[in-house]
Amino acid sequence: MSEWMAATVEGPGLKPTESIGALRGAEAPRSLRETKRGVPQRLKPPSSGGLYGTAKAVPLSETIGMGAIAGEAIVPGAKAQVRDEFIMPGLKSRPISEPQVLADDGDVTPFDKLREECGVMAVYGHPDAARMTYWGLYALQHRGQESAGIASADGVEVNDIKGMGLVSEIFTDEVLAKLPGHIAIGHTRYSTTGDSALLNAQPISVESTMGLIAIAHNGNLVNLGNSKERLERDGAVFQTTSDSEIIVQLIAHSRCNTLVDCIAESLAQVDGAFSIVMMTRNRIFAARDPHGFRPLSMGRIAGVNGEPDTFVFASETCAFDLLHAKYERDVRPGELVMVSEDGVTSRRFAPETVPHASCIFEHVYFARPDSRIFGRWVQQSREEMGRQLARESPAEADLVVPVPDSGVTAALGYAAESGIPFNFGLIRNHYVGRTFIQPEQRTRDFGVRMKLNPMRSLLEGKRIILIDDSIIRGTTSRKIVRMCRAAGAAEVHMRISCPPTISPCFYGVDTPSTRELIAANKSVEEIREFVEADSLAYLSLVGLTHSCTTGESATGLSPASFCTACYTGVYPTQWVDVEDILPATVGA
Ligand code: SF4
Repeated sequence: MSEWMAATVEGPGLKPTESIGALRGAEAPRSLRETKRGVPQRLKPPSSGGLYGTAKAVPLSETIGMGAIAGEAIVPGAKAQVRDEFIMPGLKSRPISEPQVLADDGDVTPFDKLREECGVMAVYGHPDAARMTYWGLYALQHRGQESAGIASADGVEVNDIKGMGLVSEIFTDEVLAKLPGHIAIGHTRYSTTGDSALLNAQPISVESTMGLIAIAHNGNLVNLGNSKERLERDGAVFQTTSDSEIIVQLIAHSRCNTLVDCIAESLAQVDGAFSIVMMTRNRIFAARDPHGFRPLSMGRIAGVNGEPDTFVFASETCAFDLLHAKYERDVRPGELVMVSEDGVTSRRFAPETVPHASCIFEHVYFARPDSRIFGRWVQQSREEMGRQLARESPAEADLVVPVPDSGVTAALGYAAESGIPFNFGLIRNHYVGRTFIQPEQRTRDFGVRMKLNPMRSLLEGKRIILIDDSIIRGTTSRKIVRMCRAAGAAEVHMRISCPPTISPCFYGVDTPSTRELIAANKSVEEIREFVEADSLAYLSLVGLTHSCTTGESATGLSPASFCTACYTGVYPTQWVDVEDILPATVGA
């Protein structure tokens, strides 16, 4: 296990391109180098040097000869330093000089979960559109905590402000005051493609012959081929390494006569997952890819005293509740919606015959239970997953215990179906962020114990059913099982509310490679041994799709309308990452 060093820089004004150049020219991990798609790929833990995860960094020994860190970086085996000239006024820097280690023995994802990449928000027709967008992003914060941005327009000018960190940290009253106008779009981000610093924060704005266009994108494009090179030959100057910019550059270089035609033509050219909101100085656009991978909903706030209604778009409907907006409908896969002073219009940019592939993991884990995703309440799906799991995999036990927070709703369903009492046998500390601990603390599962604390009075002597929504690498699950036993649990039976995760996602979700996914490399019995549970069972795929389609609010959803690729390895699009089809090598 490497020693890890860490440093954090927060705020605007970094010079990320120097970091990218250095990484490409140095011992950058393979996944960061130029790929056939022409953009750096998902960031993964390097074996030496380079960077990991949510930021980019250049170790002292690399080509530019000094450390440069943007965002939050974890640099194994290298001295990291923050240079003054990389820090602009107002920037907070917090270098940590002593070697320290990351909580959870390197499980940098909280509770070893997959990570959603982005949330998007748009508002048309409100006098303080930027503030409304801010509140929407605030509700969508769980979809990305690395950077956020808002662009607004007053009919004449477009302004945008982006920053690293949480929405509430970036958008103070003072900052929001610089974003006037009745139109706004916003974005909160954790990256998959492109590096992860301020450079790639969104909205991304590009000047075109039809004026400035700003875009905020949730998802991940695939099969880009030589689109970027082609656009560069056409004179496009890319500002970012994000695949999202391809869309807006295609629009800017389209030769169609109207902006709507330019957008429709451009969207028809790209493949993969995209739920996007765009704006010009006087219009809002919202679109979803033809497969409908990621969610995007439309809502409305009724105007008062004869004022026109306000239209809002958001990745999840929980954003509407804070704004008192009423959910109207989802943006349909392959649909482009435009809102202007003439009202709302809609057109298709792809045929309706494209099979839908809505991400089922939104219902399993990503989305908030109080959101309606793909037209269906997430809470309803999760509770049914728990019920179905109880029917498929019962266990003799005294208590149903969720792994908080994401396992709670499924655990309630399991308890209701099985008749076994439910209780919070594990208490979560919600205030633990990315935490670094001393080497001597590392051996005692300190990181997990900081986040979760067992209720000895509930667990002692009990046979418990521990409900979680996924096992990704398995290391955190093992620590939780051990924690329950140490608190006196007589038996621990693990139940997972989805099938084994065997394949990575290419559609806007940060997943480890196949080699790191425990279920891609071990049988269920081997995983049970690894996590040290008395028994282990996963929800079946049929049980999962049933859970997301049964009941009242399953309007128009069918089991075949979901993407389930991370459970099956069968992808709705053609593209496959060579790195992820290499033979599995993971061990314990
Ligand atoms: Fe969702 Fe999994 Fe499909 Fe990715 S591969 S879109 S996480 S279901």
